[in-house]
Amino acid sequence: MRDFLEAITNSASADEISAIEIPESYRAAYVRREDAAMFEGVESHDKDPRKSLHIGDVATPELAPDEVYVAVMASSINFNTVWTSIFEPLPTFGFLDRLGRESAWGKRHDLDYHVIGSDASGVVVEVGSAVRNWKVGDHIVAHCNHVDDQDPAGHNDSMQASNQRIWGFETNFGGLADLTVVKANQLMPKPAHLSWEEAAVNALCASTSYRMLVSDNAASMKQGDVVLIWGATGGLGGYATQLVLNGGGTPIGVVSSPEKADLLREMGCEAVIDRKAENYRFWSDEHTQDESEWRRFGKKIRELVGEDPDIIFEHPGRQTMGASVFAAKRGGTIVTCAATSGYMIEYDNRHLWMKLKEIKSSHFANYAEATAMNRLIDRGQIHPVMSAVFPLEQSGEAALQVHKNLHEGKLGILCLAPEEGMGITDPEKRERIGEDNISRFRNHQRKIEASA
Ligand code: NAP
Repeated sequence: MRDFLEAITNSASADEISAIEIPESYRAAYVRREDAAMFEGVESHDKDPRKSLHIGDVATPELAPDEVYVAVMASSINFNTVWTSIFEPLPTFGFLDRLGRESAWGKRHDLDYHVIGSDASGVVVEVGSAVRNWKVGDHIVAHCNHVDDQDPAGHNDSMQASNQRIWGFETNFGGLADLTVVKANQLMPKPAHLSWEEAAVNALCASTSYRMLVSDNAASMKQGDVVLIWGATGGLGGYATQLVLNGGGTPIGVVSSPEKADLLREMGCEAVIDRKAENYRFWSDEHTQDESEWRRFGKKIRELVGEDPDIIFEHPGRQTMGASVFAAKRGGTIVTCAATSGYMIEYDNRHLWMKLKEIKSSHFANYAEATAMNRLIDRGQIHPVMSAVFPLEQSGEAALQVHKNLHEGKLGILCLAPEEGMGITDPEKRERIGEDNISRFRNHQRKIEASA
């Protein structure tokens, strides 16, 4: 892979890149089937991804006709990196087994190791025989929607395809590696004003937030909508906050520290709730929710913006869903894509039906939605929320930080890129869009570290 890095760094031509042989093996972050029970009896928050995530060489899979090999310059940690590496709620090998039974090409994925990672920026280094729109040398970012276009169910919205999967979570050969295999319909042009790592952190979280908020497939946010965003400086929330501001809405950002509250204000979000400082206790014990705490939360929202939210951007799940259903406006929408704190959800149904609210589910994004989101980033209307960068070898440490909620925004991972800041091919555009906007999360993290 060193030859690819050298060629990319020296802006080699497509012919020069094509002349480099794809290696038989490559460096990757992976979990092992034999480790799937290693955390038995350990509490969820004590499960340590550093113990289960290995970095080492794996064999290069064969290329299917509709796929490309990408030399991965950078990737990112997603919450699914955490789920895979703590083997919760299930070991991901079950997904690989099922994919293995589906087709001859699917069989490649069914291995005793799982190369994970659902984001990547990099360079196309070989294209399969059926690939039309992409060529060797293209600078790309990959989104994680892995679909088979031969399923009619996926032709209105590919997220509805029965064999829709998340690349690097429900498939093998993910992005936390020096090389990856993706379908051509996962590729999008890399924004030229961003470095490799800034470009790599966006696709999964930003596209998910876009579908949840903007797309007609979920909340269809309108100008003027008031949107309550849980975890408003997290991976999803950092993009959601920007999308609401960019779309003429009013965000109410919920976070859990004064530093995150400051960051939100810097982003232009004026209505901020520090849930730790407010000390909300939505659950009085493991089995009982406290409606008076929901009311206190609702009152705080009205104090801040004078009305109830049109949309609640939900993902913490069990801890917050009761409060979310309560706090939404009459006729409002609770849009959910996750349940970090527990997926067995409880809410008071009277608050839902009597006030004609609706709960909408959402999951990642189809190719059109991911591309629309990538365009907003390319135009400098939405910016990366990358706060820190780790080398591939420290993927376990980075995943631990996300698991323990010690991070802000997204954590970038350098794969082939030897250092931060490489890959910017349009510095004038970067200057126009503004370093402060592009590096807001990174600079904020640096400030915290400097004052520590
Ligand atoms: P993240 O970067 O960890 O951000 C989540 C934020 O949620 C945290 O920053 C935290 O913010 C807040 N939070 C955590 N636990 C909470 C609780 N009990 N109550 C209230 N707030 C809480 O993670 P992410 O990347 O945004 O992902 C969030 C969830 O969505 C994960 O479960 C992930 O697997 C899922 N997800 C699903 C999809 C999909 O396509 N379906 C896509 C992406 C992510 P504060 O501590 O500052 O409040």
